[in-house]
Amino acid sequence: MKNLVFATGNPNKTREVGELLGNQFDIRSLKDIGCTEELPETNPTVEANAIQKAQYVYDHFNLDCFAEDTGLEIDALNGEPGVYSARYAGQERNDLANQQKVLEKLAGKENRSARFRTVIALIIGGKTYTFEGIAEGFICHEPAGSGGFGYDPIFQPAGQLKTFAEMDPSEKNKISHRGKAIGKLVTFLKSLNN
Ligand code: IMP
Repeated sequence: MKNLVFATGNPNKTREVGELLGNQFDIRSLKDIGCTEELPETNPTVEANAIQKAQYVYDHFNLDCFAEDTGLEIDALNGEPGVYSARYAGQERNDLANQQKVLEKLAGKENRSARFRTVIALIIGGKTYTFEGIAEGFICHEPAGSGGFGYDPIFQPAGQLKTFAEMDPSEKNKISHRGKAIGKLVTFLKSLNN
C-alpha cells in the first residue's frame, strides 16, 4: 500500500478521503507525520495556495502528499471573498461573521450567483498535479440549515431547493466542489496503481 499525506489539520477530511481511496493508499494526516506548524498560504489564488501547502510538506518531510484550498466567489462582489474566504470578516476565521459580511455586502443586489472552487494539489514522485472542483449556485437572503461548515448555510447549489447546510454529508459530497475535486484525484491515483 502506498503512503500519501493529506496536508490538512482536519481529521474528518482525512478519514473521508481515505475511505474514497479504498485500500490502495494509506492516507496520513499532518499529525501522523509530526507536522504541527500551520502551513503557509500566502498566494493570491486558491490554486497557488494548494500548491504552496503541498510543496511545504514535500520540502520539509520529503513525502508524497496533497493539499486543498477552497474559495467562495460571488459575482456581484467581483469574485470576493475568493482566496480570502476563511478570514473575510477578520483574522479569527469566524464562520458566522463571514456569512454576515457576505449578506450585508449583497443587500439590495439582484445578482446573487456564486460558486465554490476547490483546488487539490498533488505532489507525487516529485511531480505536481492539480485537480479542480466547482459548485455553481446562489447566495440566499438568510442562512438555513445547521449541517456543513463555513458558508454552507447561505449557499444554495444550482438546481437544488436547499442549502448545503440543509443536506446530509453524502448528499453534499455528491455535488460539492470538494467532492468533485476529490473524485478527480481518486481517478488519477487509481490510474497510477493500475
Ligand atoms: P479552506 O480552504 O479550508 O481554508 O477554506 C476557506 C474557507 O472557505 C473556510 O474557512 C470556509 O469558511 C470556506 N469553505 C471551505 N469549504 C467550504 C464548504 O465546503 N462549504 C462552505 N464553506 C467552505
